[in-house]
Amino acid sequence: MIVDALGRRFRSLRVSLTAACNYACGYCVPDGKRLIAAEDELSGTDLARAVELLVAATGIDKLRITGGEPLVSPKFDEFLTVVGGLPVADVSLTTNGQLLERKLPAILASGMRRINVSLDTLNPLGFRAIARGGDLASVLRGIDAALDAGMRVKVNMVPMRSANLDQILPMLEYCLARGIELRFIELMNMGHLKTSASYGREFVGRDEILAGIAPRFEYERTDAPFDSTAIRFEIAGHGVFGIIANESEPFCNACTRLRLSSNGYLYGCLSNARRHAIHDLLALPEHMALSRLQSRLVTALGDKQQAFRGEVTVMKFIGG
Ligand code: SAM
Repeated sequence: MIVDALGRRFRSLRVSLTAACNYACGYCVPDGKRLIAAEDELSGTDLARAVELLVAATGIDKLRITGGEPLVSPKFDEFLTVVGGLPVADVSLTTNGQLLERKLPAILASGMRRINVSLDTLNPLGFRAIARGGDLASVLRGIDAALDAGMRVKVNMVPMRSANLDQILPMLEYCLARGIELRFIELMNMGHLKTSASYGREFVGRDEILAGIAPRFEYERTDAPFDSTAIRFEIAGHGVFGIIANESEPFCNACTRLRLSSNGYLYGCLSNARRHAIHDLLALPEHMALSRLQSRLVTALGDKQQAFRGEVTVMKFIGG
């Protein structure tokens, strides 16, 4: 097993199925372009082979399918079938929910029982302004359908000063009423934000999020798994919410994540643009592929930082 000096190892793999997305959120892409896949994206079969090798090489026990928007990818159903057959205890999905209702039968058939849906507002106009694609009603229908089918749903919301600060309480109330764990994600200094003054203007930190909740709910800090990116709070009698406080309370020292981009590169750290190609391994016999993969994994683990500074890499390419 590969472990670094801080005791970190790869336990959790995020696979970006495609960089294409039916949204063009302003914090992810600057120019409003949608549905653009990365150049040279791997086929579903190659991506699944890459995942098989990574699981065999690392003993990864958590796998999250992300993107781009995974549900727009024609590879989704096939990929789901393959990863459903791998010895990975926990397979889940991060989606913007736009196509969730339609794709739910395939998701359920794969055995997946939990998903994260990204939703930044319950205001339909605010929704259009942030996502620059899709519509709010489809997301809400998708969430309801997933809950009705017995899935565990978490919702991710990125609070931003000018876009949705007024939505912190409505979103929390919406989630608590449905038994959903809401995760507030502090805006990350990624992609074009890294060189834009808008990052500082829009950033809303942990303390301000909590201050927005305090007038309505009493909350207490509660347990989170040791390698969780989120700090968690319990509202007695109502439920739990979390904050992914990458700036206010970085989780880098306990990070166990490895990322695979849709065009076949490994990323050991969200806050480091270094990447490691694995295309050349996919057609090799297993023993050769695994021994070469080991050295790339050692390098990727060495890319992990001790503090989150952000990076110019674009979230939709490496998977959020
Ligand atoms: N399309 C899927 C979705 O919307 O969940 C998966 C990909 S998306 C890149 C994954 C997550 O990254 C979303 O929750 C999104 O809000 C978040 N994200 C993207 N850019 C971000 C940024 N600069 N700061 C914080 N979160 C960001």
